[in-house]
Amino acid sequence: MMLLTKKMIEIRSLLQTVGQSESLTLPSIVVIGSQSSGKSSVLEAIVGHEFLPKGSNMVTRRPIELTLVNTPDAHAEYGEFPALGLGKITDFVQIQKTLTDLNLAVPEKDCVSDDPIQLRIYSPNVPDLSLIDLPGYIQVSGHDQPAELKERIAELCDKYIQPPNVILAISAADVDLANSTSLRASRRVDPRGERTIGVITKMDLVEAERGASMLADKKYPLRLGYVGVVCRIPQQSTGLFSRGSANIANAITRNENAYFSAHPEEFGPGSDLDVGTKNLRKKLMYVLEQTMAASLATTSEAIHQELAEATYEYKVQYNDRPLSAESYLAESLDAFKHAFKGFTESFGRAEVRAILKHELDQQILNLLAQRYWNRPFDDLTPPLIEPDILSELPRSDPDNPLWHLKLDASSASLTKLGIGRLATTVVANALQAHIDRLISTSSFSAHPFARQTITQASASILRDLSYDTSDELEICIKPYKYRIELEDSEWARGRENITAVLKGELRDCDAAIKAVESDLGGKKKMKDVTGFIDRVRSGEVVLEGDGTGGAGGFSSALLRKGREAVFLRDRAEILRMRLMAVRSKQCASKKNKYYCPEVFLDAVADKLTSTADLFLDAELLSKFYYNFPRELDARLGRGLTPSEIERFAREDPKIRRHLDVVHRKALLEHVLTEIETLRQLEAREKRVASRG
Ligand code: GDP
Repeated sequence: MMLLTKKMIEIRSLLQTVGQSESLTLPSIVVIGSQSSGKSSVLEAIVGHEFLPKGSNMVTRRPIELTLVNTPDAHAEYGEFPALGLGKITDFVQIQKTLTDLNLAVPEKDCVSDDPIQLRIYSPNVPDLSLIDLPGYIQVSGHDQPAELKERIAELCDKYIQPPNVILAISAADVDLANSTSLRASRRVDPRGERTIGVITKMDLVEAERGASMLADKKYPLRLGYVGVVCRIPQQSTGLFSRGSANIANAITRNENAYFSAHPEEFGPGSDLDVGTKNLRKKLMYVLEQTMAASLATTSEAIHQELAEATYEYKVQYNDRPLSAESYLAESLDAFKHAFKGFTESFGRAEVRAILKHELDQQILNLLAQRYWNRPFDDLTPPLIEPDILSELPRSDPDNPLWHLKLDASSASLTKLGIGRLATTVVANALQAHIDRLISTSSFSAHPFARQTITQASASILRDLSYDTSDELEICIKPYKYRIELEDSEWARGRENITAVLKGELRDCDAAIKAVESDLGGKKKMKDVTGFIDRVRSGEVVLEGDGTGGAGGFSSALLRKGREAVFLRDRAEILRMRLMAVRSKQCASKKNKYYCPEVFLDAVADKLTSTADLFLDAELLSKFYYNFPRELDARLGRGLTPSEIERFAREDPKIRRHLDVVHRKALLEHVLTEIETLRQLEAREKRVASRG
């Protein structure tokens, strides 16, 4: 018998995890009573511990689904809140505190919440029972309570006292039964008194004769009868030491027995009345088992129905494809690592070289502009060129110190740029950008947590590698800071490359001029503005003030644009001139390096690049390619707990739905197997009973 109830309670708990569905549950015992009727005392007497929230203004605001699990071989008694994951709580004062907090968390304006608190208590001293404690009925709302509290509590109770649940209606003996709120509520939903157990508390507060007559009540006869109890916790057992630890059941029973045996005439064996907490427990167990067993067939039918729906959805929506959070993570991780492998094969020394060379080309253009193309910066006019001096260059004296100085300084600027840091940073950034792209095209893109983890993994590896790499690379290129020897072939390659770079720059410059032209409102307008600026620069026109307020009939904004146009026009002119120089015979030989700074600097940059790409390939790429997949395994594979994996997988709504169906189906199948086992157990017990 006992085993059956235990099994059924287990099944009931399993069904609770399937989800909220009215038909998908097994009945429970619902405890109702008005405030101060002694409802908490009855429940605590059954459990053997004080654990329910107390206090004059303390109203239970959420149903408590209390599952008692008898653990005959265990010594420890403890509680668990499965939904909170707090683990085993052996201190019942702590359970009481948690319940109080959960109650207080219900917003004042909501009055009560119908979201039940799940609490399981394991003890060798409790019977296997499933009880639902509901907020006590109140007569009038207190001055600091919302006016509708009374109605909301009644509504909540009404929801729970529906069939097939058993109603445990608590009434205090010192209140006339006709005025019992709980009995009135139960009579409305159970008029024939078929599934209500009446409990009369505080029997010690009325004359024994009166108490006895209440238990034999005929006005609202209950098939399951009335039980009289005295549940007040005797004072000496509520001392400091016993609170929250010692079991109080015995003290209560002793006190109760003392009262009932003091009135043998009314409550003695001959009276036929049901009294005592012990009897109440027995009755509850018996009634719950009968009720649950009677509901089993209906519940199992509902589960079959639900399972059929889940199976259909699984087939139609997900093609019967199995899925678990773990398998999803493993597959995603594999796919990502595979994509990364593909990337490592496509990104090697050649790609590093291209990135570095492009970066250094930009640096060379800056250097050339600084040292050859720009006139010292002047506030009044845009940075201007020295076209006259520069156009002298091809014809100047080979020993002219000006050009020697300029080229040596430019070359030194390039080699002392901090190539180690620059090159390492540029390549590390490129790698990080590729990783980000890989993430965005992987299934991790829908998972903020995984995206962040992967980005952090690559960033931290790259950061660590970058420190050493940039220092070591700087050492590798050190010789070039002192002496640069060029081969003819290197010169030729430099010449070819810088030609392309200058052409590209010229194209960009021309495009920028076109853009300014359209900003200024056409060719003619641009000619007018630039013409005026040219006249100012040549001294033909003298500006009053600094021209910031506009001049020559042009607004200051127009003049600003005009200066940009002049700058770009002059820059394009220089680029054309230098392109011609680079292509000229003079620049075909490295002997004339002072005449061809563009070619020389490019050849130097190429040398630096060759050293850097080799080094970065070995130090940064190889190490990153080796470490990154391992770091991924550590952070996303082994590093995650099952609940983290579950949370990760559920971040993607598609996967979450898929997992839900798989999970629901498995759970329902499991419950059905459990019910089947239960039926076999039941049949065996019946056979044994009939033989006995
Ligand atoms: P609830 O508001 O319905 O949960 O009622 P409680 O269980 O908190 O009890 C209200 C008051 O009645 C408390 O002071 C209890 O000590 C007291 N009480 C409960 N049961 C009994 C009983 O059987 N006899 C006596 N004398 N007092 C009781």
